[in-house]
Amino acid sequence: MLADLHIHTNASDGKLSPSELVKMAARAGLGVIAITDHDTAAGIKEAEQTISKENLPVKLIKGVELSIDCPGDELHMLGLGIDTDNVRLGARLRDFKEDREKRIYKMLDKVNALGYPVTISDIMMQKGADTAAMGRPHMAAALVQKGYFASVAEVFDKLLYLGGPAYVSHLKPCLKEAIELIRGAGGIAAVAHPYTVKDQTLVMQAVKEGADALEVYYPEHTPEIVAYYKDMALSCKLKITGGSDFHAIKGRFPDKLGVFAISVQLLNLW
Ligand code: AMP
Ligand code: ZN
Ligand code: FE
Ligand code: FE
Repeated sequence: MLADLHIHTNASDGKLSPSELVKMAARAGLGVIAITDHDTAAGIKEAEQTISKENLPVKLIKGVELSIDCPGDELHMLGLGIDTDNVRLGARLRDFKEDREKRIYKMLDKVNALGYPVTISDIMMQKGADTAAMGRPHMAAALVQKGYFASVAEVFDKLLYLGGPAYVSHLKPCLKEAIELIRGAGGIAAVAHPYTVKDQTLVMQAVKEGADALEVYYPEHTPEIVAYYKDMALSCKLKITGGSDFHAIKGRFPDKLGVFAISVQLLNLW
């Protein structure tokens, strides 16, 4: 059976609705998927309902991807198997989402000051769902739509990279809080795409703070990198997860669901 335990929907910065996503997962032959939107679990209910209504042969792991506060670096923590009704997690996800909205306005000011006229409605048009958690990809897509840049990747390279001229940070939990939130909601805390973290000591810090798992399988991880994190998982007694980080964004790998899937035998989450 094939799994993909890192997928975004239009509840954050993915392009597909949760319903479209689960139907596509079934067509792609994925038996297990996790929806892991940035700082929100708002897409989970619709996905569950569609799986049940259409009797899709897909097991859904309820998830979330939290951005961790670590100045100068980017560290993401996946929560896999969370109770989406957990009150404490729900309250914090609301805080993060509200702050993401304020942040969009701050980024808008910076982008305008840099000479790229864009309005809040240009950006809002880029979000898939009314309730979507807003992020840099929405801003980037608006700037591409306006014709200022050729691709979302170019906007990131020129304006929105961490510390870039239009970059604005947002409210993020520290490692300890993120792990507590995820575990408190019954989930497994997994360090997402560990190789993309600039300061690798942060990955070890996450382990020390109580992370349960490592995202060993990830599109940017070569066989050597997979072997490296597999060894780390073994020696630190961590579970192993993997996923594609699918967003359904053109030009961003993978642009199709199922082309990066992991045999469930390679994962040992439960
Ligand atoms: P945010 O959480 O709003 O800061 O935005 C993070 C999102 O931007 C994540 O989905 C990243 O995968 C995405 N992202 C980061 N760098 C790039 C890039 N160079 N091109 C496209 N998307 C990116
Ligand atoms: Zn994303
Ligand atoms: Fe991530
Ligand atoms: Fe992701």
